[in-house]
Amino acid sequence: MIGRQALAVSQSPKEARSEAVQLCRLQMTRIAFPLQIHSDNVKWVSGSGIFADVDGLITQSAEVVLALQVADCVPVFIYDRQKNTRGLIHAGWRGTTGSITARLVKSLVNEGTDTHDLIVYLGPAICKEHYEVGEEVAKLFHESSLSENTSRFYADLRHELTIKFLELGIPGENIHVSELCTYEDTRCCSYRRDGAAAGRMFAFIEDA
Ligand SMILES: [Zn+2]
Repeated sequence: MIGRQALAVSQSPKEARSEAVQLCRLQMTRIAFPLQIHSDNVKWVSGSGIFADVDGLITQSAEVVLALQVADCVPVFIYDRQKNTRGLIHAGWRGTTGSITARLVKSLVNEGTDTHDLIVYLGPAICKEHYEVGEEVAKLFHESSLSENTSRFYADLRHELTIKFLELGIPGENIHVSELCTYEDTRCCSYRRDGAAAGRMFAFIEDA
């Protein structure tokens, strides 16, 4: 399992994808890109291409490299070490509090995965201290993923995702969490920090 991230400046989506792929020395003909819409949709793919209306892709094809774009949302890497299946999903607050994690794991289990064989990596994302959410959004999180300060709510996306993956039967020792905060680390792209001018980071997962 290899996860790589590359910074990309503001360009057309097509140019940004090409540059990220080149920077990581990957071949465009192997890449599967989802056109993310903050949904719970995950899709199995067996070839490269651009896939609409999904926020996560899963593959068992050694040829295919899965890709994702993020800027504060969590890139979730998942790998079945027995079956060599790989998945990559995008989880902002909607995905994190919604059912994308359950749909991802169920899709894998339906194809024969044992959850004890799954390895999860939650990549660089905005940390709790820098992720203020409204009260309505806060209500969707477990209490242990939240903190409150003078009536402002702060949510920990990666903590919430960890709870979900544990509930889905993935052992705690198989869940690895980056400590990088995209808002604080200026090497990272952050939508909360840079607004509409923010670039996007690319995540890739390819066969070992
Ligand atoms: Zn932070």
